[in-house]
Amino acid sequence: MKLDGSNLKIAVQRKGRLSMDSLLLLKTTGLSFDSYEGRLFSRCHNFPLDILYLRDDDIPEYVQDGVADLGIVGLNLVEEKRAALSSLDELDFGFCSLCIAVPGEHGPDTLEELRGKRIATSHPNVLTEFLQKRKIDARVIRISGSVEITPALDIADAICDLVSTGSTLKMNGLKPITTVLESQAVLVANPDSLACPRRNPFISRLRSRIRSHLQARSTKYVMMNAPRSALEAIEATLPGMKSPTVMPLAEKDMIAVHSAVPEDIFWDVIENLKKAGARDILVLPVEKIVV
Ligand code: AMP
Repeated sequence: MKLDGSNLKIAVQRKGRLSMDSLLLLKTTGLSFDSYEGRLFSRCHNFPLDILYLRDDDIPEYVQDGVADLGIVGLNLVEEKRAALSSLDELDFGFCSLCIAVPGEHGPDTLEELRGKRIATSHPNVLTEFLQKRKIDARVIRISGSVEITPALDIADAICDLVSTGSTLKMNGLKPITTVLESQAVLVANPDSLACPRRNPFISRLRSRIRSHLQARSTKYVMMNAPRSALEAIEATLPGMKSPTVMPLAEKDMIAVHSAVPEDIFWDVIENLKKAGARDILVLPVEKIVV
């Protein structure tokens, strides 16, 4: 099988932290394709799309150069590689922070104390810009892997590396002192593909599928019963996308109210609904939201 020049191409990480979630996201948007280790690319059976499996370090350049129209990659790499890309959407996975960390016991403790010191990192561009903006004159040492070991080897006085749980830092006796960048997986596009009248409609369709999935994942559908007299208080509590659905129940002066509630404020809303007079509250997951 060969790549089809007329198909849209999306680059995803071949093997690593973002691989599984990237493929899962594409599958949950309704794309059907076979994926297994060792493949260089997959063809979707139900959408004109080829999925290219690449090293995530290479994805920004491949998308910039038009080898792929779209890419799923960490924001940290988008910022570091300085590629000419259009950043489209945050994808809500692959969360991590690019942090400056120092050896726990002795040595510098604040950003100011890093003046004149050596900081090892695999993100030299992002770090240099961060230091310049704060007028911290430190030496940035470019390292491609195992950054955490460099203070112990006396190659650096501090490091700037990606952290999610912080356990790797701890294991290496390092403590974070400041965050340089908050990162997560993002969808990026080649600007020419976005402007292309033939490719743009497919990119828009794919984005709208991704967005409807992400929005649905962070929303719950809430159904409750209440006395009709409580409706005003319930409506005031509900932050739903539109006004809630209200239906009479067989029981006199009782109603059913349905509404979508964002996940992040869900528990506050439920508690307030109970105070407003709602009962028999049912909560359902939302599969997709198409607006
Ligand atoms: P990998 O090459 O498999 O380590 O994946 C690297 C990408 O995963 C990074 O570029 C980040 O966007 C993301 N990521 C999420 N959490 C972490 C973490 N704790 N350390 C390194 N990368 C992370």
